[in-house]
Amino acid sequence: MLYFQQNARKFGKSIALLSGSQAYSYSTLIDQAEKIAGLLVEDQADLHQSPVAYMVEPGFAYVSAQWGIWLAGGIAVPVALAQPVDSIQYIIQDTGAKTFICSACFTSLLSDFCRDADVRLLVWEEVPETASKSLPEINVDKGAMILYTSGTTSLPKGVLSTHHGIESQIRSLVEAWNYTADDHTLCVLPLHHIHGIINVISATLYVGGKVEFLPQFSPEEIFARFKQGALNVFMAVPTIYFKLIAYLESLPESERIELKTCMQAFRLMISGSAALPVSVMEKWEILSGQRLLERYGMTEIGMAISNPYAGERRAGHVGMPLPGVQVRIVDEKNRIVEGQPGEIQIKGPTVFKEYWGKEKASQEAFTEDGWFKTGDVAELADGYYRILGRNSTDIIKSGGYKLSALEIEEVLRTHASVEDCSVVGLPDEEWGEIVAAAVVLKDKKSSPEELNTFMRQKMPAYRVPRKYLFLSELPRNAMGKVTKNDLKVLFT
Ligand code: ATP
Ligand code: MG
Repeated sequence: MLYFQQNARKFGKSIALLSGSQAYSYSTLIDQAEKIAGLLVEDQADLHQSPVAYMVEPGFAYVSAQWGIWLAGGIAVPVALAQPVDSIQYIIQDTGAKTFICSACFTSLLSDFCRDADVRLLVWEEVPETASKSLPEINVDKGAMILYTSGTTSLPKGVLSTHHGIESQIRSLVEAWNYTADDHTLCVLPLHHIHGIINVISATLYVGGKVEFLPQFSPEEIFARFKQGALNVFMAVPTIYFKLIAYLESLPESERIELKTCMQAFRLMISGSAALPVSVMEKWEILSGQRLLERYGMTEIGMAISNPYAGERRAGHVGMPLPGVQVRIVDEKNRIVEGQPGEIQIKGPTVFKEYWGKEKASQEAFTEDGWFKTGDVAELADGYYRILGRNSTDIIKSGGYKLSALEIEEVLRTHASVEDCSVVGLPDEEWGEIVAAAVVLKDKKSSPEELNTFMRQKMPAYRVPRKYLFLSELPRNAMGKVTKNDLKVLFT
């Protein structure tokens, strides 16, 4: 029996999910999942270990579809809600899914394409009331889910994880972050990435807690919900905290104080998926009374490094390895280094099985002795890991130096006129690459010359950006990450 079946029986009538005024118990959830599984098994004879896509509304529909696919022996492929049909087609073609479960509201978007691609479209609201009695035995070491990476550096890659890998990820987080049945987590993240799926939903449901979904994401909705009480866990990406801070700063002081009192009651607030600027962490602490816990993870490895739940949460750092996760830092020749930057490599039960349909890429992703090569550069200082960025886009090789774009961004953000910024390396004949900065200004009161003077006071000349580009906003993907390859094009 899979872990969530056991848990659903154990927690029975307790509330698992809330959306709007609706509440669903663990029993209701597993009952619905069994109905979906029954339909899937009857509908597709060779369903076992084949990918099933699902594009359903967050909440009861989402979790029951995911569990239903798992109970039927299929591989769950969550599809993002707000994306062009082309991206959906890419996922269906790349996975080869023959069945697609959707909420009724998405049928008109999907029906033509599914008919042409010979994909069976099942409507979640039309699942029959009778559950199948004969569901297959599931091998926990076989594929459970294909999640697509965020597509920050190139086309998203399908990452295949097993049930065992997923449960290992959950158990590691439950142990490190103290999830309990008293947890009531607000879910505002998209549900096609690990952050929302594992950290928010799966880990909370693993211990018998409640997950609540908001109909729409907006600072107003989030804070209105915070005011009603009951919630005690919140997780988001840095751009969401950034937007929440801007909203709080626009409020009259009395309202800000009222909201701070509500937020102080939370057990835990977490940030991840991209580097959390120190300024965002500091402002959030002042406004909410919560010191954010920053962690580092990846679709391929789940969460790997985290600041401590109890103990110092160090700004600009991601903490220590999570339980069960082995971390090492190596140089270009794959030799372990200490006290200097290098690539982070990861080993352990949480690591994915393979890139779906990409044998060569899967092999190349691991060292001969089985460590996953993250492509991210970090250093370990005083027991805490610090991420310097992606080797591909954040480590700028200029005049023999290796510069961290993230470090330069941190300094630029301290300028009073800089609202947001992103630093990249541009090709240059003389230097290899030169440092360039895209800047969103708070006011129009700055100029490249003035920013240059500021930066030269703060850092050695070889790290100071040579080019500035002022933008009204930075190009970002669905997880709020700056797509630096798109940004580089804007400089030309
Ligand atoms: P793609 O692989 O398609 O280019 P992606 O790498 O953004 O996209 P994800 O797996 O969602 O896809 O994101 C993992 C990456 O996010 C990590 O490799 C790392 O670069 C970045 N990341 C995650 N957490 C942090 C953090 N706390 N600080 C800095 N970077 C982080
Ligand atoms: Mg990646």
